Amino acid sequence: MTGPSPVEPAVVPVLLYHAVTEDPGSQIAPFAVSPAEFERQMDVVQAAGRTIVSFGQLISGDVRSAPEAAAPSGSAERRVVITFDDGYADFADAALPALQARGLVSTLFLTTGWLAGGPGRTPGPTDRMLSWSQLPELQEAGVELGAHSHSHPQLDTLTRPALRDELGRSKDLLEDALRREVDTFAYPHGYNGPRVRRATRESGYRAAAAVRNALHPPGGDPYAVARLMVTRATTAGDVARWLDGTGAPVAGRRDSLATRGWRVYRRGRAVVRGAAGSDYR
Ligand SMILES: [Zn+2]
Repeated sequence: MTGPSPVEPAVVPVLLYHAVTEDPGSQIAPFAVSPAEFERQMDVVQAAGRTIVSFGQLISGDVRSAPEAAAPSGSAERRVVITFDDGYADFADAALPALQARGLVSTLFLTTGWLAGGPGRTPGPTDRMLSWSQLPELQEAGVELGAHSHSHPQLDTLTRPALRDELGRSKDLLEDALRREVDTFAYPHGYNGPRVRRATRESGYRAAAAVRNALHPPGGDPYAVARLMVTRATTAGDVARWLDGTGAPVAGRRDSLATRGWRVYRRGRAVVRGAAGSDYR
């Protein structure tokens, strides 16, 4: 191990969290971290010497300064992004206080059909979810809010009208609630492909987060931003290695052959079953 490579100083770890709780429902349990473990991981993030930016800021920076146009020193700024998917209620109770205590900004991608106290609820996790009435205060607290579809399907298995509806409805509902444009998105389960990425762009989003369990290369596709999924098994040491730029690969520019094959299989399965996706993350 030689530590961070000087030739790739600008790869960005984009962390993906779900629930932060001692008591997760069974579906999300493999992807939940305890509040104490979350605090340890945020201590690591704070100590890493990276600039903490929101997902939207990462993309704006990418657009403004593509690979060559680096920071004045000649080495691009080292950044890190902290994201959360779905909208579990423990974000407000457990995660946000820990983030605020350390001055860390974050981005929260919301499944609009799962939020409490709103119209058009769809079946979702058994866990308590954030309510619509909390969203303005989260925004007020500096949390960047983005969309994560309305009913959390595997988007790449949907028909075109259904895909457009998931992308557009979650955007419209959030914009009405927040009274501002919502232009960032996270794919449910991370599933995307050329067709989904194009529809996302055409629906008015300027960037979207995938999963990929890799570091995001600056200047990479803004509609396939790689994230590193934190699971119950992830330790603060793992997070430290990701922040070193050594604990994960750098995302490639294209979907891998395995990813493409798996998409074809799931699309066929969705046609047979008439529905897609049953796991809630
Ligand atoms: Zn999700």
